[in-house]
Amino acid sequence: MSETIFSKIISKEIPADIVYEDDLCLAFNDISPQAPTHILVIPKKPIPKLADAESQDHALMGHLLLTVKRVAEQAGLTNGYRVVINTGEDGGQTVDHLHLHILGGRSLAWPPG
Ligand code: 5GP
Repeated sequence: MSETIFSKIISKEIPADIVYEDDLCLAFNDISPQAPTHILVIPKKPIPKLADAESQDHALMGHLLLTVKRVAEQAGLTNGYRVVINTGEDGGQTVDHLHLHILGGRSLAWPPG
């Protein structure tokens, strides 16, 4: 498993604006926000992308979604928000460590580009 910028954030080798952390995952503000609130939720387990998740990750994947809900509430996104998982090259994924984007704080257009 190659090291990524997100594994360095997990190990605290590089700083991030962390808004939530537990044994299984970490949430921090995106360095290049695309909305007033733009938070990334990542597993501490280095799963490169959604397509690499396995049946043994069942509970972890549920935990990530419930963490999204928790972090969105904590961020005050009472009017709604969008959760995005870019996956692979065509999905626009640029960091090879599974991450869930939480975007909120403004009305978001659909469909995405
Ligand atoms: P992707 O395009 O892979 O779905 O999303 C990667 C996200 O990671 C981008 O939104 C990008 O701004 C964010 N990102 C990349 N490097 C860093 C970093 O060093 N710190 C933080 N906080 N976010 C980063």
